Amino acid sequence: MADTDFKFTDYQPYDFANRRHIGPSPREMAEMLSVLGYPSLDALIDDTVPASIRQAEPLAWGAPKTEREALDTLRETAGKNKALVSLIGQGYYGTITPPVIQRTILENPAWYTAYTPYQPEISQGRLEALLNYQTMVCDLTGLDIANASLLDEATAAAEAMAIAERVAKSKAKAFFVDAHCHPQTIALIHTRAEPLGWEVIVGDPLADLDPAAVFGAIVQYPGTYGHVHDFTPVMAKLHAAGAIGIVAADPLALALLKSPGDMGADIAVGSTQRFGVPVGYGGPHAAYMAVKDAYKRSMPGRLVGVSVDARGNRAYRLSLQTREQHIRREKATSNICTAQVLLAVMASMYAVFHGPEGIKAIAQNVHQKTVRLAKGLEKLGFTVEPEVFFDTVTVDVGQLQGVILKAAVAEGVNLRRIGERRIGISLDERSRPVTLEAVWRAFGGDFSVDDFAPDYRLPRSLLRTSAYLTHPIFHMNRAESEMTRYIRRLSDRDLALDRSMIPLGSCTMKLNATAEMLPITWPEFSEIHPFVPADQAEGYRLMIDDLAAKLALITGYDAVSMQPNSGAQGEYAGLLAIRRYHLSRGDAHRTVCLIPTSAHGTNPASAQMVGMTVVTVKVSDSGDIDIADFRAKAEKYAETLSCCMITYPSTHGVFEETVKEICEIVHAHGGQVYLDGANMNAMVGLAKPGEIGSDVSHLNLHKTFCIPHGGGGPGMGPIGVKAHLAPFLPGHPEKGDAEGAVSAAPFGSASILPISWSYCLMMGGEGLTQATKVAILNANYIAARLKGAYDVLYTSKRGRVAHECIIDTRPLAASAGVTVDDVAKRLIDCGFHAPTMSWPVAGTLMIEPTESETKAELDRFCDAMLAIREEARAIEEGRMDRENNPLKNAPHTVEDLVGAWDRPYSREEACYPPGAFRVDKYWSPVNRVDNVYGDRNLVCSCPPLEDYSEAAE
Ligand SMILES: *Cc1c(COP(=O)(O)O)cnc(C)c1O
Repeated sequence: MADTDFKFTDYQPYDFANRRHIGPSPREMAEMLSVLGYPSLDALIDDTVPASIRQAEPLAWGAPKTEREALDTLRETAGKNKALVSLIGQGYYGTITPPVIQRTILENPAWYTAYTPYQPEISQGRLEALLNYQTMVCDLTGLDIANASLLDEATAAAEAMAIAERVAKSKAKAFFVDAHCHPQTIALIHTRAEPLGWEVIVGDPLADLDPAAVFGAIVQYPGTYGHVHDFTPVMAKLHAAGAIGIVAADPLALALLKSPGDMGADIAVGSTQRFGVPVGYGGPHAAYMAVKDAYKRSMPGRLVGVSVDARGNRAYRLSLQTREQHIRREKATSNICTAQVLLAVMASMYAVFHGPEGIKAIAQNVHQKTVRLAKGLEKLGFTVEPEVFFDTVTVDVGQLQGVILKAAVAEGVNLRRIGERRIGISLDERSRPVTLEAVWRAFGGDFSVDDFAPDYRLPRSLLRTSAYLTHPIFHMNRAESEMTRYIRRLSDRDLALDRSMIPLGSCTMKLNATAEMLPITWPEFSEIHPFVPADQAEGYRLMIDDLAAKLALITGYDAVSMQPNSGAQGEYAGLLAIRRYHLSRGDAHRTVCLIPTSAHGTNPASAQMVGMTVVTVKVSDSGDIDIADFRAKAEKYAETLSCCMITYPSTHGVFEETVKEICEIVHAHGGQVYLDGANMNAMVGLAKPGEIGSDVSHLNLHKTFCIPHGGGGPGMGPIGVKAHLAPFLPGHPEKGDAEGAVSAAPFGSASILPISWSYCLMMGGEGLTQATKVAILNANYIAARLKGAYDVLYTSKRGRVAHECIIDTRPLAASAGVTVDDVAKRLIDCGFHAPTMSWPVAGTLMIEPTESETKAELDRFCDAMLAIREEARAIEEGRMDRENNPLKNAPHTVEDLVGAWDRPYSREEACYPPGAFRVDKYWSPVNRVDNVYGDRNLVCSCPPLEDYSEAAE
């Protein structure tokens, strides 16, 4: 080779910056643009996004980082956190995540990239895991029915209060709260009760409770300072007065103690964090709620149930969905949408992994260590309270408080500061003999654990006698090979982003890049207690400040709160800020909230939670907000107008030209604008809500900013506000101002923020803008390819869609009897998760491809959709039977193939429609699931299963 033949390549092997997140290659993009008839991506964007809303300055904060650079930054930042041993308790405890669960669930895209299990056929694995979770919660609490997780213990307690108000016979308007509830729980109950006009009475339930004065009461068990009381008489008193009894209980303590159900509780709530989910500076972890059967229809959150498929085989599905906010809207009890599925799955597997014997042994071990600790402290002359306890004790140390806390930190241990004189200590599964010895040294003692005999100080009358975790699944052979295979079997039943695109409208299902996921399990992020002294969370502070600044830049707002744990919580926090703003100006009467009929169900549900009156606004045939109706309603309610809630681009997938005008109308009548930011994936870098005229928005970091959906959670829903609303952002008791607190932890689910932060770092402002443009390109490409076969319901005047499009399948129902369900289920045969079904328009499919999908994947999807149209045509033209056809019989399973084949179409047509891979074919584990049967025959815990015996000992 001659020297002159050698040329240095420009190609950067690792640093293909935006190509990680941007699916189509430059060549593919050029092909797609030519299909759409545009010379360039910018020409398409100029024709799609109205000039009137475009941001003037490009988004910029320096060059994008490579993966290695970003991870270096993350490492350096993590290194500024100090992961001490935290014995602070207060709802957050050390726990050991079994490595098999960490590796095969938490770090496994088959689990973390899944969507909420609305399509049951492709969700059987996670539905089974969630059913195990519900069974575990029912067993431990002794109650009849449990949901598949809530956001955190404190919100679960506030939700329980709301149920109580709804179902209690008592007409009282006050709620009693045990002073020994965790402070954040008390704060959230205040937040929730205040706008609804309910009085909150905090006191000692054994002494101060007047049951006739309240519609319900909540007690903490064990209490935040360690007390373990028998609340049976309290529950009885409440019932006699027609009020509801709620117990907030630690599930690990319940392994040893009488259950809330046995005390007569109507509702139990709590956190399953210490079942193998790291504290993570506050989250995410799964809260639980269990209720008596009579209250199941009032329970918020998702509920997994057992039904049958078209062959009569057992199949799981979400039950009683009509309870949810997307159906009940402003009449919903709760706005919860995204919950904590991935963490509930982890907690359920922790129970499967340990079984009842293991859980009991862990609980006993924790208790025994606490008794030893107490004995040592007593030997030093301290009085340890209470006399009987589970894992938490408090000591009145008087003047020594500061000295001891400091000495403990020097020993590498955080203890809880209580008031001016007391110290709280909560032990956990991780506490070692050296931990106890360190605590003793901080108190001035030099003991060895062996100096104290193991002992029990549990109240005898409260020892648990009822069985739990009796189902065979909690008794399987726990050899790691079995665990690994069980977890693998379940994930193999499901379709997640690791197998195919999930073209869900509204719920942006984009890439969750591996490099972004790595830091979340670093101990410097995952093992920080949310209430550690600030100097131990310096890394978190730096990251949160920088991410907040970037989100403010992206949205055009002045301040950002990271507290809300989900989009719906963000709405709630934003509306509370609006409410408090009006109150501060003496405008208590401003309570009307205008919401277009096309809004997401969480919008009206959130509005009613803050005591607003929802007035709905029409949507015109073009899909835009009916501006005349909007103006008329704003004028009609001018005196009482609080705000409007709009979504931009609209839920119809179009950039409305009138959005600025809408903001002006609301402002002219003294109202505020809440802009639902769930569709920010269409705006980042191109337009800013704050510049369009909105006052507050939430961002779904689990949509736009790459936090995985986890099968229905975790999430993060930070809100951005204009300066005038900044004083009304959520406070938190740990920060000294509990006003408006909406989450148990000050920064919500802080430990997943590294995902969004590293996304921003690796993309840079330019990369994020490019992602938005390609998201719009991909959606317009799909709309163009499907045009002719299906009507695209809404487009702009120039015929463009935003980042998603709605296609109309209703004509197929008329012409061929093919429903939107049939199309969705046939897509499973093609290896796809269905798009969003029947929202925001019944009988339609809403498709959002996101920028992450390659042209090849978009084409595979379009081929599948076009083939489905042709199958419908065969029915229309009488070439295929109206009842017995591949659409009606979808999805097809291996079971269908093994028996006699008597269908009027071939096995080949059944199983290998266009789009389906031949070798890597996804096989649905069940035939079509019968929804009606499941609701008529409600079973929401593990049924006795023959199948499990395969895995049993
Ligand atoms: C997803 C979504 C929400 C709710 O967000 P969660 O995080 O699920 O609570 C609200 N509005 C719109 C338009 C959404 O798409």
